Amino acid sequence: MNKFNTTIIYVALLLCGKVYSQEFLDTALLRREVTFISTDDKGGRYPDSRGSRVVAEYVLSSFKQAGLKLLCNGGYQQFSLVDGWEPDSENTASFCGKPLKAYADFAPINYFHTLQASLSAEIVFVGCGNDIDWEKCKGKWVMILCLKNHNYSTIAGRAIKHGVGGIILVRTDHALPKYQYANVLRIKTKTTTTLGPVVEVSLGVAEEILKHSNKDLNIKKLVEVEKKNNNSVIPLGATFEARTSFKPKELTCRNVVAMLEGSDPKLKNEYIVVGAHYDHLGIQKSSTSSDTTKVIYNGADDNASGVVGLVELAKYFGSLNVKPKRSIVFVAFDAEEEGLLGSENFLTQDIGINNSQIKAMVNLDMIGRYSALQTLSIVGCNTSKEGEKLVKELVKNSPITAKIASNASLITMTSDHLNFYRKNIPVFLLNTGRHVDYHKPTDTAEKIDTYGMSQIIMIAKELVDNLANRKTNLIFKSL
Ligand SMILES: [Zn+2]
Repeated sequence: MNKFNTTIIYVALLLCGKVYSQEFLDTALLRREVTFISTDDKGGRYPDSRGSRVVAEYVLSSFKQAGLKLLCNGGYQQFSLVDGWEPDSENTASFCGKPLKAYADFAPINYFHTLQASLSAEIVFVGCGNDIDWEKCKGKWVMILCLKNHNYSTIAGRAIKHGVGGIILVRTDHALPKYQYANVLRIKTKTTTTLGPVVEVSLGVAEEILKHSNKDLNIKKLVEVEKKNNNSVIPLGATFEARTSFKPKELTCRNVVAMLEGSDPKLKNEYIVVGAHYDHLGIQKSSTSSDTTKVIYNGADDNASGVVGLVELAKYFGSLNVKPKRSIVFVAFDAEEEGLLGSENFLTQDIGINNSQIKAMVNLDMIGRYSALQTLSIVGCNTSKEGEKLVKELVKNSPITAKIASNASLITMTSDHLNFYRKNIPVFLLNTGRHVDYHKPTDTAEKIDTYGMSQIIMIAKELVDNLANRKTNLIFKSL
């Protein structure tokens, strides 16, 4: 869909908010909303992407229109995500004093998220690095031969653990990596290590190093030797020098946060959080085919469906003449798929409310495939003394089948509610289960069961209403 069409739908969806009371549970509206959030032009809503920003803006506008008070910075809570590591321009290497050219003769590799590392030492050849007497390699460069199907990072990890100074990889199965290669691992951590440098050298440089040893060695010969499981350490009598330098590639993530202030002068200082993550997997290689072309992961069920539920609930509660007693904080989390980072940051940064007064959390994650399993799972009911009884009562008259999920599912259904549970807050996750399209490019809008979704949003509405108005708060129970 092009940008122009997107804008029309965007405006149309916002206008729908105006006639909210008649539109509630309109399944056609739900489908339009899910479709808007998960069309190809949103690019799978990877954090900090254009599509992600469009959806965040849409949620923010919906919150505003529902009359909610925007928290944080105009409704956005920003935080950063390390999305891999980039080599900078400081990567150098030389062999026997002769400088090598980056990305032609050698490439820096960052297996261990090391910011800067350098080494000038002699080289020993260790074949494929199997059953090596690593004592002989301490502090030295080890030249490792990587054959097809070898797991280079594991081999390198093993070597570095045994105290080698640095690693020179020689891969026989492909050309020297280009700049982008260093990001392939996409190590998403801010933690850094001070381990030795790792470089890959071209086959030409590898041959040169071997020739220098005067031992009549070449790659072809060595590959043959390795097939017989060689485990000797061969000093090559040459010195190698390299400096590798990386910086974390940081993305800016955004939670969208707004509040409906409670109507009770005292209870308004207590909060019920309703959340749904809006990020998804972006554009990457397909998990369903061996083809290496990248495809869009639309994430219609995961979790455009939950975001639509969130927006609908915000509109509903915002439209009430008499607001609920407790304050309700609505939040669309970013970077859930990257390790629940949105909810983690929500709970650890100052968002302008007293976090210790959050009394319960309701998470909507994947509520669009009721038709697949014919069951709505409500996870976390036993994280409070009263949760199970309360939920059973609420779903009693629903036309859909809802079940109290097992205690174990609190952990296995990993989503943002977990971070709240870890802070001793009673949680509820509404989820229609994992289906064949889960985390696949085939999780698309036309497969959404909007009737099931509408009924689930009704249940969520009842639940949030109860939590925000009940006399006494739920009592947390650890599982
Ligand atoms: Zn999800």
